Amino acid sequence: MGSNGLRMGCINHSRSVCLRADRELPVILYTRAVHHGKKIFLANHGACVSFDSTYYLRLMKLGDHSRLYGAMVLVVGLGLVFVGLVLYLCFRSKESGTQNMEPLTPGLDLPLMGRPATNAFQHLMFPTDQVLDRNDPDVFQPTASGRPESALFGSVRTANHGKGLAASFHEGVDIAAAQRDAAGRPQDAVYAVANGAVAYVNAVAGNSNYGKYVVLTHACPSGLVYTLYAHLAVISPSVTRGRSVKSGDVLGIVGHTANPPIPLDRAHLHFEVGLILNARFNQWCRAQKLKNDHGNFNGWNLIGVDPLAVFEHQHQCPDFDFFQHIAALPVAFEIVLSARCRPDFFDRYPCLWEGAPYQGVGLQVAVSEDGLPIKGRNATELERRLLGAHKSVVLRVDPGVLGRNGCHLVVCRRGLWCLDREGEKWRDMLMY
Ligand SMILES: [Zn+2]
Repeated sequence: MGSNGLRMGCINHSRSVCLRADRELPVILYTRAVHHGKKIFLANHGACVSFDSTYYLRLMKLGDHSRLYGAMVLVVGLGLVFVGLVLYLCFRSKESGTQNMEPLTPGLDLPLMGRPATNAFQHLMFPTDQVLDRNDPDVFQPTASGRPESALFGSVRTANHGKGLAASFHEGVDIAAAQRDAAGRPQDAVYAVANGAVAYVNAVAGNSNYGKYVVLTHACPSGLVYTLYAHLAVISPSVTRGRSVKSGDVLGIVGHTANPPIPLDRAHLHFEVGLILNARFNQWCRAQKLKNDHGNFNGWNLIGVDPLAVFEHQHQCPDFDFFQHIAALPVAFEIVLSARCRPDFFDRYPCLWEGAPYQGVGLQVAVSEDGLPIKGRNATELERRLLGAHKSVVLRVDPGVLGRNGCHLVVCRRGLWCLDREGEKWRDMLMY
């Protein structure tokens, strides 16, 4: 209690203090005074102080410049709210930049802005110091089965699907670690195979069966090609989304990160190369209420081709063009699809579309063993009749191209080929 009956309590610090004279109190305090029961609470510099009613009245008499001070407090308050809002929006956009890519990731829409003059894939280097010779089994890391072919691309594996073993497709190549420290940890550097940009970095080992992985996109004259580097132990700190990389830049170190984890003795680099199925993949996931931590760079949306065949082709051909390589891939099946608009895939890779612009009444697509659309065109009259009211009809299948373990995306039921559940998901992703 002060000499003039004034009480002041600093609530934030749970202690009480007294003021000797009311005239020493800054007038600005009273402009923020509010009644609370019998006390009047004032806010000042983040602390709350309380006064008796008598003192409150005295303060009001001091307020010759109260309107001016009130306006100042209002302006300062609004300023703080504005700064807070700006900081919040900056934080949100930074956070979304690392995880959720809406609607397109930088670079994914690059082909729409004009064709690059250079061909990033004309010169390729191997992603580690291992020389990728498919005849050298020491270069590749097989699965626990120990079968050398299980390290390669294609329908080379089986997986337990509850009711027994089923064919499992391996979308890349597994390159063994060549250098290890005394504890057996791999020391191999992982290199960018071509000039490009960092499209995605997943630094969380446990949220993908790729473990920690990096996706690069590379500008080729006919569209963007992706490369993927998975199971990394370490990702180089300089490898951040949107950053450009040069062929040979170190992206990280070979490891065994994955969900579920890979044993240390089978540590390897899983390497992929291919095309992006749909730039609206993330929206499709949301529409299906599917959990997706990786935006458009989820493995479902990345359709690979055999990396060893790409290196072999590039080695033989000085004017290597990735899209010519795709055009020469064997067709696993042909399908007729119902669609009002041409799929986004053919807008981003127009060189894979053949003939007249899409007429909106069905398209025919030739597909690789891995689900890569190799060529699309308007469906013929006969194909449209076959399609009828269906979403899709499988026209032709080459079982030889489907791989050693058979079906992937398509299945033969009672003598008729159709899409299996995985195939229907692939179709819906392509057409969304
Ligand atoms: Zn692999």
